[in-house]
Amino acid sequence: MKLKDLPDKRGYFGAYGGRFVPETLLAPLEEVEKAFRAAQKDKSFRRELSGLLRDFAGRPTPLFFARNLSKEFGGPRIYLKREDLCHTGAHKINNALGQVLLAKRLGKPRVIAETGAGQHGVATATACALLGLKCEVFMGVDDCERQSLNVFRMKSMGATVIPVTTGSRTLTDAINEAMRDWVSNVRTTYYCFGSVAGPHPYPWMVREFQSVIGRETITQIRDYEKGDPDALVACVGGGSNAIGLFAPFYDHKKVRFYGVEAGGRGLKPGQHGATLCAGRPGVLHGAYTYLLQDSNGQVLPTHSVSAGLDYPAVGPEHSFYKDTGRAEYVFATDKEALAAFTLLSDVEGITPALESAHAVAFLPKLAKRLGKNKSVVVCLSGRGDKDMLQLQGMVLPPAHRFDFGGPNPSRVRGVRRAR
Ligand SMILES: *Cc1c(COP(=O)(O)O)cnc(C)c1O
Repeated sequence: MKLKDLPDKRGYFGAYGGRFVPETLLAPLEEVEKAFRAAQKDKSFRRELSGLLRDFAGRPTPLFFARNLSKEFGGPRIYLKREDLCHTGAHKINNALGQVLLAKRLGKPRVIAETGAGQHGVATATACALLGLKCEVFMGVDDCERQSLNVFRMKSMGATVIPVTTGSRTLTDAINEAMRDWVSNVRTTYYCFGSVAGPHPYPWMVREFQSVIGRETITQIRDYEKGDPDALVACVGGGSNAIGLFAPFYDHKKVRFYGVEAGGRGLKPGQHGATLCAGRPGVLHGAYTYLLQDSNGQVLPTHSVSAGLDYPAVGPEHSFYKDTGRAEYVFATDKEALAAFTLLSDVEGITPALESAHAVAFLPKLAKRLGKNKSVVVCLSGRGDKDMLQLQGMVLPPAHRFDFGGPNPSRVRGVRRAR
C-alpha cells in the first residue's frame, strides 16, 4: 500500500476511520471534503497558505543537530525538528491556518473549535484574528481552570470561550459539544478540528496540512546525512504532529516510525493516555479507531502530566500503522517525560512542551536499540512556555537519574562540567 491510497475514497485506513456520525452531519462533512479537494488543486489557495506558513507562522522551522543530547545517550545522531519555534508555540498553527483559510473559501463567517489544553484553541483564535472570522472555542470547565492563561490568550484575540460542563468536563465532551453546535449552525459555521482524529475528511485533511513537517525534514536532513534518517520519533495525543512527520516518509520503507504515548502514572485503567499501547478498537468522535474503554465499551478517563496527550482515542491512521507494523507505539510515563524535560533544557537550552518531552524520553531506549552511526529525527512539537506555571510548583526528577543505561558520570545536574 502507498500513501496515496490512504485513506480510500470512503475515508478508511484499512479497517479504521470512516464517518460514524448522525445523518445531519453527513452533508456538512461532504461539503468540507469537497472544498478541501478543490482547494488542494487550486494554486491560489496553495500560494496563500504557503505564504502564511512562511511569513506568519515562521516556516520552514529549523532542523537542529542536537550534539549534546546525542553525546548524552552515546548512540545515534539526534536531530530536532523545531516545531516549538512556530508562531503560538506549537505545530497546531499549521493546521489551523489551513482550515481557517478553507472556512473563508467556503464563505462561513463563524469558526468553532474544541480544545483541551488550549493550544488548538489558541491556534484557531490566532488564525481567525488574522483572517477576520468570528471564533468560538469549546473547552471543558475543568480545563478552563487548569489552563486559564490560554483562555485569556484566546479572549485577547477576540475569540469567545464556551465552557463545557457536561460529562468529564474536559476535551472529550468539548468535542461532543462542538459537534452538537455544528449540527445546528452548519450554514454559517465551519468546524476546525484540532488533530488527525474525528470523522472523514478530518484525519486526512489535518494530515495533509501537517505534512509540511515531514516534507521539510526530507530536504533538511540532506544537509547533514547522506539520505533519510534511520528513525523518526514523535509524541502521540490525537496524532497530528506524529503523522505530519511520518506520512511524507511512509513510502520510504527503511525509515522506522516510533510514536510515544502518555504513560501517565503507569498503564492501569484511568491512569494514562496510551491508547495504542493499552486500548481496543471502537467508535469515538465519528471514527473507528483504538480507544481506551472498559469491558462495556465505556470510554475511560485519562491522565497525563501533559494536557495535550490526554485523549482517550487516537487518529485512525495510527491504528492502521500499528496493525500493519509500519509504526511502533510505545509510552513514556509522567516521570520519564519530566526527566526528559529537565535533560533537554539543561544540555541544549531548549525547554520543550511536556508533550514533546515524551518523545525525547523514548530516546535512551531507542539509542540502545540503534547503536552508533545511525540517525534519528525527533519532532519537537511545541515549546514549554505554556507549562512553566505548572512546573514551577513541582519537584522535577533530576535528569542524571533518568535511565539511559546508568547515571552518566560526566554530568551531575546543577554542576555542569565545561564542554
Ligand atoms: C496538542 C499538542 C500535542 C498533541 O497533539 P497531536 O495531535 O498528537 O500532535 C503534542 N504536542 C504539543 C506541543 C501540542 O500542543
